[in-house]
Amino acid sequence: MDYGLLKNAIQNAERILIISHVNPDGDTLGSTSALYQVILNNFNKSAQNVDMVYNGIIPEIYKFIPFLDIAKSPQQVKDQNYDLSIAVDIAAKDRMGDSLPLFERCNTRMNIDHHKTNTNFGTLNFVRADACSCGEVMLDIFKALDLKIDKDTACALYTAILTDTGGFRYENTTAQTLFKASELILLGANPSVISRHCYESKPRNMVLLHANCMINAEFSDNNKIAGVCVSNKDMEKYHASNDYTEGLVEELRRINTTEVSYVIKEVDENTSKVSLRSKNTDISVVAQIFGGGGHTFAAGCTIRKPLNIAKEKLVEEIRKVLG
Ligand code: AMP
Ligand code: MN
Ligand code: MN
Repeated sequence: MDYGLLKNAIQNAERILIISHVNPDGDTLGSTSALYQVILNNFNKSAQNVDMVYNGIIPEIYKFIPFLDIAKSPQQVKDQNYDLSIAVDIAAKDRMGDSLPLFERCNTRMNIDHHKTNTNFGTLNFVRADACSCGEVMLDIFKALDLKIDKDTACALYTAILTDTGGFRYENTTAQTLFKASELILLGANPSVISRHCYESKPRNMVLLHANCMINAEFSDNNKIAGVCVSNKDMEKYHASNDYTEGLVEELRRINTTEVSYVIKEVDENTSKVSLRSKNTDISVVAQIFGGGGHTFAAGCTIRKPLNIAKEKLVEEIRKVLG
């Protein structure tokens, strides 16, 4: 991969916009923050000319990631012009939400990602499906270009790698992952502090919402399929913000009988958002049937149907891949 092209694109751009995906997670936020810092610390750019944009809300647990407090909403930057836009951890264009017009408006559109379903939608694409996280791709880029990685940058990258490997537990965890995490610790990332933020700082109502969902979980096909539907009423009951369902789909997969787990969330009366996880089955194909995508064992999509109908259709497709 020719990272020299990436360096030239950054050097040649006067104004740069870094874009994270909707329902932001630790990888998109950590990688965005790291790239922002590296651009300001290594290229001759003024902070006024480099912006980070997020979509929706930044989950409380990720607010410790350096510099996210100055990230902007798409509305805040909608009248700005940039020469270079950079999509970070974004499998498909529609995952940019309201930032998409800002991405499309730029002459140079960069796509830095690690999803195998990524469609190379940029004018410059750095997509590495072998990487555990976009954070790992970023670290490789920074090292290949000999760019300075300070303590705050290391913290952001470590968070990205930690969260996308589920705390170094998923099959995307390799010797390389752990080498790189170790390098980041040597550069100043604090593993226990970061883990505390990511895994031991849940709002009480988030835990209670999860408990309520687990009690109402539905099991089928010899308990191989485990899922929950989360309505807006459930969300209101726990004064839940949008990110409160994060982690629920992994909790369902954790059950010993589960092969595929899903969470379907009501967006509105005709739209449902799906999260899929599996132990051994490629469920990215299920997400793709509904126009989504992702990884082999973690994928997602949006179904333009009411919650219950969406669930029926989804379970039908899951059954097909289970064979
Ligand atoms: P989530 O369940 O939202 O955590 O998403 C799981 C994985 O699937 C992530 O890697 C997402 O980037 C990906 N994903 C989720 N929704 C979509 C979508 N609509 N299109 C493409 N990829 C998606
Ligand atoms: Mn992500
Ligand atoms: Mn990722």
